[in-house]
Amino acid sequence: MFWDKKIELLPREDLEALQMAMLKKTIRAAVKSPFYGQAFSENGTTPEKVKSLDDLRRLPFTTKQDLRSGFPDGFLTVDRNKVVRMHASSGTTGTATVVYHSQKDIDRWTDLVARCLYMAGVRPSDVFQNMMSYGLFTGGLGLHYGAEALGAMVIPVGIGNSKRQIAFLQQFETTVAHIIPSYSLKLLETFDEVGIDPKKDTGLRILVVGAEPHSEEVRERIEEAYGVFAVNSYGLSEMNGPGVAFECPQKSGLHLWEDSYVLEIVNPETLEPLPDGEVGEIVLTTLRREAMPLIRYRTRDLAMVHPGTCPCGRTHRRLSRIKGRSDDMLIVKGVNVYPIQVEQVLMAFEEVGNNYLILLDREGPVDQMTVRIEVTSALLAQGIEGLEALRAKIIRRLREEILFTPKVDLVEPGMIPAGDGKAVRVIDNRQPAYCTKLRRESGGSAEGSGP
Ligand code: ADP
Ligand code: ZN
Repeated sequence: MFWDKKIELLPREDLEALQMAMLKKTIRAAVKSPFYGQAFSENGTTPEKVKSLDDLRRLPFTTKQDLRSGFPDGFLTVDRNKVVRMHASSGTTGTATVVYHSQKDIDRWTDLVARCLYMAGVRPSDVFQNMMSYGLFTGGLGLHYGAEALGAMVIPVGIGNSKRQIAFLQQFETTVAHIIPSYSLKLLETFDEVGIDPKKDTGLRILVVGAEPHSEEVRERIEEAYGVFAVNSYGLSEMNGPGVAFECPQKSGLHLWEDSYVLEIVNPETLEPLPDGEVGEIVLTTLRREAMPLIRYRTRDLAMVHPGTCPCGRTHRRLSRIKGRSDDMLIVKGVNVYPIQVEQVLMAFEEVGNNYLILLDREGPVDQMTVRIEVTSALLAQGIEGLEALRAKIIRRLREEILFTPKVDLVEPGMIPAGDGKAVRVIDNRQPAYCTKLRRESGGSAEGSGP
């Protein structure tokens, strides 16, 4: 049974007491790892000194760079014989980092994923098609084990091969699929090509979408095209992977499982805590991880906590949609822009198709931003006047949102290259060529191990 009523509805006071007890255990365990052994002694931390959740703030942060410098075993707190699996982040922003799991860790992770799926409405009678890459990327095995534990029939089809995905959806009467949001939009082209309507001709009722930032507008498009509940799933390999935070059917934020993680939102510059309702960096501490506990891990993901309680009754706090990573922020003409702001504007126009790309160039000393946008075939059929009118409307709305005037390039559907993994939304040609080359060589692309 994966409706863990006792834990999910636990009054805040009891939940915080539980966190405190688990935190003490975690710190006692973490200190055994080479990294925290040293970090705590430098910081003067001893497990006895952490008496309240507020005391956690006195502990040092852990960064992605720390994980890299501790590569491969610097964070292990158990004998290597106890490790049953490893995963690695896909290296979207640099060299991959590794996370080890004991059997207990895998079991707890599986429980969390099953809890998420159950909350979203997945039941043992469902057929679950996992359209995510298997392997080092956690979206494959993580969701696989959770859905299987829940009792659904899992199809481990993996990523890509759009025609086969569609055939499987029909042949096995798939009701729930796990898919990257940008790929779910791209798949619509294949649906079109083979003459199948995802809404009428499949039994899909829930799409679990996650692994990359996406706007509410994109969710609406997915829900409309597929006739489903598109549930937002958040996780990162350093915190196991999926199963960290997930939406409930209220669609008013993602419950972050506070029996397993301590959540802090901090100002990414001052690192001071921020109150609910203010956007900052998500910082997480694992509470139930045996092989590799992480304390105050700076995720670099930006979000806020929704104030107040959820009508569903769950007491675990709700994260907003992720705005992006702090390193996604673009500085164009001196203005800070997040790609998701552009997406929100574009996707609100029904004449805009399902893909877009932001190109940054430098013309002399001046930054230039071009937004390349696929339009719908219906708009194309209307001819040049319709296109020009749309272009003007988009430029106006973008200017209101980002405070400068970008160039807008309208292109036919399918003209912007799209993969089946995390979407690449920005191409920045402003750096000298050798910088781009160095970045590529250090693995700083969205390729890596998946999804
Ligand atoms: P990598 O860091 O190399 O991309 P991961 O596979 O661990 O490797 O990716 C986790 C990251 O993906 C998160 O830190 C976050 O930036 C992004 N992410 C995951 N789920 C979501 C989501 N639902 N919304 C927005 N971003 C997400
Ligand atoms: Zn809820």
